[in-house]
Amino acid sequence: MNAPADGLRSATVDPAVDWDAVRAEFPLLAREVHGKPLLYFDSANTGQKPAVVIDAVNDFYRHHNANVSRAVHQLGSEATDAYEGARRALARFVNVRHDELVLCSGTTFALNLVAWSWALPRLSAGDVILLTRMEHHANIVPWQLVAARAGATIRVVDLAPDGSLDIDTVRAAMTTEVRLFTFTHVSNVLGTVTPVRALCREARRRGITTVVDGSQALPHRPVDIAALGCDFYAFTGHKMCGPTGTGALWARAEHLAAMEPFMGGGEMIREVSFDGTTYNDGPYRFEAGTPNIAGFVGLGAAVGYLEALGMARVEAREQALLAHLTEELQSIEGLRILGTAPGKAAVVSFLVDGAHAHDLATLLDLEGIAIRSGQHCAHPLLAWLGVAATCRASLAFYNTHEEVERFVAALRKVRMLLA
Ligand code: PMP
Repeated sequence: MNAPADGLRSATVDPAVDWDAVRAEFPLLAREVHGKPLLYFDSANTGQKPAVVIDAVNDFYRHHNANVSRAVHQLGSEATDAYEGARRALARFVNVRHDELVLCSGTTFALNLVAWSWALPRLSAGDVILLTRMEHHANIVPWQLVAARAGATIRVVDLAPDGSLDIDTVRAAMTTEVRLFTFTHVSNVLGTVTPVRALCREARRRGITTVVDGSQALPHRPVDIAALGCDFYAFTGHKMCGPTGTGALWARAEHLAAMEPFMGGGEMIREVSFDGTTYNDGPYRFEAGTPNIAGFVGLGAAVGYLEALGMARVEAREQALLAHLTEELQSIEGLRILGTAPGKAAVVSFLVDGAHAHDLATLLDLEGIAIRSGQHCAHPLLAWLGVAATCRASLAFYNTHEEVERFVAALRKVRMLLA
């Protein structure tokens, strides 16, 4: 197994886990697609949900549904307790204070919140926002929007040929004009795991604020945000067994206190008059409007589920599946894996000579196999790789070694059809 990357607790293999029983907790994985058992290798896109999460959402709507924080009636207080309970569960899961966690619709919202509320008022002409070549569009476009308004520019750190991020290259890019460095924890295309702690240390030394996109890290490995030393950490719930439309931004309390909200409405205020408005404290000032209450109840259940399973076990399981898949794929002639950084996560982008990525994915779908093909919301990375599209197989702990075998056999078969 690969050595654990920086900022991550070490993984251990626990033979006591019955992974078949774990898999059976995900009802959707029992269905068929085109008359074949579903094989789901698209967890980097969105994760499947265990029954405990589906039941929690169902139970909320059946028994507790009400709006949060506004009502004094029983249901209102049950809903508020459930919602705030989820915030606490999530905070515990990533080892931060619950009053430093802004609940929102996901990473995209979280990164936009930093861009509009923290960065825009603090950036001026000549300032530089540093990001890496492998960012998802959600960690590129918000910065372009605010940079254009502030007269700031964006500087891109390139990758090593294997897709890893070299700390010396980052250091060289951290000139005095750099105000903010935003980067992914784990690449959704290459699987590269970045050395978050070391990168944040370098940034802090130079007074550069750090923003980490944790979308692809939290679902797959233990992450202790407090230990990373970043200023902001964004993540999404639907990739970590939770419902869609859930996620969070963690920010140090002093950042939250100093940030102006960019979205106004109910819940985020203390007092409103036509002469002016005072805002609520902490994360609440950034949570205007009715939130996805049932979604967060589901995410709270998802976090409880993952905690019980143990994220170190999840990581070890996925690393074993990744090693198996990589070895099998390497035996296919003309198949090229993009992203081979040491310690990478279980995301495998690949190309097969003579076969278009979309054609491969379409034929695999007919075999009941779900993978993603395309540009994975990372146009600049694919341009740098010099490819129009890739196939991407992304794994989760609920996948099996039998599925790896079946996937590779199907890939060999459809490849022959396209030859
Ligand atoms: N960053 C990365 C690395 C991602 O993989 C994704 C989701 N594909 C996002 C950001 C955006 O997440 P969301 O759509 O949940 O906001």
